[in-house]
Amino acid sequence: MARVCHFCGGSLAGNKSREHVFADWLLEFTGQGDAIVEPTHQNFEGDVVYHRRNPHTFNGLLLGGVCERPCNNGWMSTIDANAKPALIALWQGRAAASLLQHDRHALSVWAAKTTFTLNLSSLSTFRRIIPQAHIEALFKNPKVLPPGVLVIAETGLKNDGLGWAQSQSWYAHLEDRETALCKALEGSSFKTTLRIGPSAVTTSFWPNDDWMISLRDGRHVMMGSERSLIGWNAAPGYVKSNYDHVEHAFEIQVLSPATVRAQYGDAPFGVP
Ligand SMILES: [Zn+2]
Repeated sequence: MARVCHFCGGSLAGNKSREHVFADWLLEFTGQGDAIVEPTHQNFEGDVVYHRRNPHTFNGLLLGGVCERPCNNGWMSTIDANAKPALIALWQGRAAASLLQHDRHALSVWAAKTTFTLNLSSLSTFRRIIPQAHIEALFKNPKVLPPGVLVIAETGLKNDGLGWAQSQSWYAHLEDRETALCKALEGSSFKTTLRIGPSAVTTSFWPNDDWMISLRDGRHVMMGSERSLIGWNAAPGYVKSNYDHVEHAFEIQVLSPATVRAQYGDAPFGVP
């Protein structure tokens, strides 16, 4: 057990608490508190690497090693409260595109916080994919997404309750000579989809800014981005994913600098 808080690095002596990965109010509101969590670790080919034998409930999905204040009952609980309207809307099936900018932003910061907490809480079944720098950045400024982080939402899915998938595997467009580089970069990337009933919220990070992240037009809706190079891809050709429970939200792609130049020339890019 950590002696200092995962987020602020402060001592836990006399200041220890446990952070719910999914907030109390959300579990109560969705009726998912007693639903069983059965973490399964699959590789990219869909083979099960690990399946937890002693499942617990969402109420029991907690992260220890978090301080009471300033973290759990401070800025983290503020993030939960700010995202409440957006989370309720997504659970009730409202289209992500109808969310106002204010709610999109609140949701994006919530998604980052929840993604980071989830990863730290699942180290016995998975591996650490969130760099410490991102966790520190969120603690230092919990009003904005950490550098390079991108959050999208997708709505209109089947209501599968709450759930998630964490990964470092991407669909990539690249030249053969870039394969090794791409694999190396993947090791510093993260991509986590949180399932909120009929909606999915994906928090992602690709370590190099000169690679483009390409999203699917008409399906993925931008919630927040601290990344400059983003493209939209309307074309079909997405590979059916093994992550059926998170649908297509995982199907964001990266394009290497060479393929970006081949497709777009040297034109400047930006968030549309
Ligand atoms: Zn703390």
